[in-house]
Amino acid sequence: MSCKPPKEPSALNKFDMWTIGSVLKWTQDYFEKKGIDTPRLDAEVLLADVLGCERIYLYVNFDKPLEKDELARYRKMVEKRARRFSVAHIIGKKEFMGLTFKVTEATLVPRPDTEILVGAAAERLKKIGNAPHIADIGTGTGAIGLSLCRLMSEVTAVLTDISDAALAVAEENAANLNVADKCRFFLGDLTAPLAGQNFTAIIANPPYIADEQLSGIAPEVQREPITALAGGKDGLDFYRRLANDAPPLITPGGFMAVEVGIGEAASVAELFTAASNMEKTAEIIKDLAGIERVVIAWKQQ
Ligand code: SAM
Ligand code: GLN
Repeated sequence: MSCKPPKEPSALNKFDMWTIGSVLKWTQDYFEKKGIDTPRLDAEVLLADVLGCERIYLYVNFDKPLEKDELARYRKMVEKRARRFSVAHIIGKKEFMGLTFKVTEATLVPRPDTEILVGAAAERLKKIGNAPHIADIGTGTGAIGLSLCRLMSEVTAVLTDISDAALAVAEENAANLNVADKCRFFLGDLTAPLAGQNFTAIIANPPYIADEQLSGIAPEVQREPITALAGGKDGLDFYRRLANDAPPLITPGGFMAVEVGIGEAASVAELFTAASNMEKTAEIIKDLAGIERVVIAWKQQ
């Protein structure tokens, strides 16, 4: 038996001296060499998932040896992370708005930026009051619509997606989060499944990456479904369509709220405010990095 930790994960289960502390240190160094941004955090989240514990447990059990089967499962995850699968896709879940969402290869991993959109929408829905009914178009995991249902007891929601696999994940998340009775799910192209319905607010984080930027996105993002990311030549295709099709579905005094990519906010605000029966100025909200991230346009009273 060797006492020197191995260099590659293939050897993780041949070396039987691993403790929680030593395996984390080894993985941190390994991930760092592979160019992963948050090597220590990723190692901890993966190991906590294997052990079925909270991350904090790792810190008070550094000297605890790992079982063979735990190491074998962990090794597979480490190999996948080194091939730039995201941690969320490896463990099959992601925290968003303090809630746990199932994610699969059919869904985008919900991003912290999108919490800004949810918070801004919730604030405005509260002011409007009156049992708001919302649509979350392109719902993916259901992150936006289901969070709003959880945050606000009086909200009901329609969640749509063009991907049936994604919509199935959203339905599963609705059940897990105990909000299924407040939601309806429709498969279809943008507003097509919403014809004849009315909403206090239409909310979306549509695909917004411009064609020429697609090749430069992080390897983890490249593994996400292209239908969740590609926004056409200038990234604005979905906003143009929403500007045309969404306003007639919004009740007077209601709003449309969308997440936008870097540098897109002014163009999206212009598109939405030019639509008929929309107020002529829109709100633009910045994310924590100071990037204009959310556009909110109001329907006239
Ligand atoms: N709302 C989720 C979130 O914020 O995490 C997912 C957002 S992801 C950027 C965009 C979503 O829109 C994907 O789930 C994708 O399948 C869906 N989508 C793409 N084109 C669509 C279309 N034409 N109609 C409806 N949904 C569409
Ligand atoms: N925020 C995602 C990213 O750039 C893109 C999601 C989208 O197109 N709406 O990683």
